[in-house]
Amino acid sequence: MTTTTSIELLIESVRAWAEVARRVVVLTGAGISTESGIPDFRGPQGVWTKDPAAEKLSDIHYYVADPEIRKKAWQARLAHPAWSARPNAGHAALVELERRGKLHALITQNIDGLHQKAGNSPGRVIEVHGTVHDVVCLACGWKGPMQATLDRVRAGEADPPCDCCGGVLKSDTVSFGQALVPEVIERAMQAAAEAELFLSVGTSLRVYPVAGTVSAAKQSGARVVIVNAEPTPFDAIADAVFYGAIGETLPRIVGMADTIT
Ligand code: NAD
Repeated sequence: MTTTTSIELLIESVRAWAEVARRVVVLTGAGISTESGIPDFRGPQGVWTKDPAAEKLSDIHYYVADPEIRKKAWQARLAHPAWSARPNAGHAALVELERRGKLHALITQNIDGLHQKAGNSPGRVIEVHGTVHDVVCLACGWKGPMQATLDRVRAGEADPPCDCCGGVLKSDTVSFGQALVPEVIERAMQAAAEAELFLSVGTSLRVYPVAGTVSAAKQSGARVVIVNAEPTPFDAIADAVFYGAIGETLPRIVGMADTIT
């Protein structure tokens, strides 16, 4: 059993690893944003855990084939918590890591833009699953800001087509069944392989190839630390695993607990 004292000792160890590491690489998943009011998909309170049918909204095949799914998806985007969400203490800890010159790359599966909103440099954030803040036309590739398209939905277009070609519009995110952008995932893998310390935060590590960044880091000699409420398939190869809430654990790992009230 892990006692309070042994957790403190483990936190001390991770802080010491971060102190000597020249390149810290962080992978984040939906779990880092739940404390900002954005639910994850697979956690105990996850969107899909509560309503398995909601998974269809994130599947490209249903999205392209069925206008009714697209109408639901646009309504879900109108109500998306990302528009008003504020970064939390977990995001702030990663800003602090960058401020100290430690953050080599921040690989995120999140589409909410909260790392940039918290203050991480956009150039350090690798959004492997895209962003909900932009829209893309699936036919001609046109891209534009999400809010302008949401204005069209509010004005009565339940499934607004592309202004350029009439094609299907979608948030600029990678849905299930869609390929990742090769340069983006390659950049993430490269960064993971360059890490001296790799932190995996708030992800179930069940979505590939992103989960492969953990093995890439480990194989290149990095220490691996996992912070997640539930066990992940990579816990056995990690040098330290924390099952606490991210907003409490991450600031302590980074050594900024005193600044969090
Ligand atoms: P996931 O839902 O598979 O896993 C999230 C994990 O975080 C779960 O294991 C859960 O137990 C843990 N968790 C939740 N809140 C936590 C907290 N406060 N402290 C500690 N652990 C916590 O998420 P995933 O692996 O990132 O995959 C889901 C996919 O869906 C992602 O690829 C992403 O593209 C997308 N997604 C994004 C957002 C977002 O942008 N905020 C939200 C939902 C889903």
